[in-house]
Amino acid sequence: MKKRVGLLYGGKSAEHEVSLSTATAVSKAIDYEKYDVYPIFITLDGQWLRGPQLTKPVESIEQLQFKSEEVSPNNITEFILDNNSQAQFDVVFPLLHGTNGEDGTVQGLLEVLNFPYVGNGVLASAAGMDKVTMKQLFSVAGLKQVPYVHFIRNEWNNGSEDLIEKCECDLGWPMFVKPANLGSSVGISKAMNREELVKAIEFAFQYDRKVIVEQGITAREIEMGVLGNDDPKVSVAGEIKPVTEFYDYESKYKDGSTALIIPAEISSEVESTMKDMAVRAFKILDCSGIVRSDFFVTENNEVYINEVNTMPGFTPVSMYPLLWQHTGVSYPQLIDSLIELAIERHTEKQ
Ligand code: ADP
Ligand code: MG
Ligand code: MG
Repeated sequence: MKKRVGLLYGGKSAEHEVSLSTATAVSKAIDYEKYDVYPIFITLDGQWLRGPQLTKPVESIEQLQFKSEEVSPNNITEFILDNNSQAQFDVVFPLLHGTNGEDGTVQGLLEVLNFPYVGNGVLASAAGMDKVTMKQLFSVAGLKQVPYVHFIRNEWNNGSEDLIEKCECDLGWPMFVKPANLGSSVGISKAMNREELVKAIEFAFQYDRKVIVEQGITAREIEMGVLGNDDPKVSVAGEIKPVTEFYDYESKYKDGSTALIIPAEISSEVESTMKDMAVRAFKILDCSGIVRSDFFVTENNEVYINEVNTMPGFTPVSMYPLLWQHTGVSYPQLIDSLIELAIERHTEKQ
């Protein structure tokens, strides 16, 4: 029997457009002999719209952007049960990034609805989205990372002088200031001195009530893909070479000038250190399905973990699928594996 797959994309986040491109790519690559595919579009203002079943690859991104007038009225129960009170999907494939997509909230909804879904569960998604929680768990796993300081808005408002002093005392220049709960480099800036640090912190507080300040590191940025559940596999490594000062939002999505070098030129020692760290990071966060682990590798071959992304970019030209392609897993095979892993995890839980 064909599996019914709900493709969930769009979303109320800064990464709405990226998600639409991913959904278009997945609809082009998924095997229609194996799956009945149902598009579920979350509009920018948060409406959930279920479109007609897809029976062949979509031709353009517009085809996936339904207007509420064009589709039958939707409410949440329609996503759970059909007219015969049967579950609508065998598996849901969330292709969402950022807030309300990658942070455990949609995952929680899918748990409540009792659907198998692709990728990470509630805990891993939420912990992976909060850079402070993520780093605290990485310390527990003994993973090497750059020094950092963190605080919430209330602490900043009541003692900015002390906090700046703490940053200067614990961290070296330059510093990277980040909102704790975002991705895609949104709200991140590099500070070279005290004045820039204050500005960067105030800027980051526009996006979140929690901010992290990290010591800057001069290093290559190298990433690895992890795929699996209890016994995850790790891909070859890939290096990112941004032409901008750091890997910011523009270089990630807009200008296409960033070079991805796969496989990365690293020694076998560095590669095995990274593999070991990638699996330890995956396990400490209790990840499942898909993770991209991002590292800093210094001139002296020291490896620091930067972060994990629990829903990494997933277009065919994104790092994660390319890493797997170079490891021998094609994009359509990756989609199959992720769907199988989702069902496996759900079955084991029952
Ligand atoms: P996001 O989750 O938004 O991708 P990152 O923590 O990966 O956030 O930061 C985005 C980019 O900023 C990194 O890819 C890197 O180029 C740069 N960066 C972040 N932290 C540091 C740091 N401590 N030292 C040097 N560069 C950094
Ligand atoms: Mg990230
Ligand atoms: Mg990153």
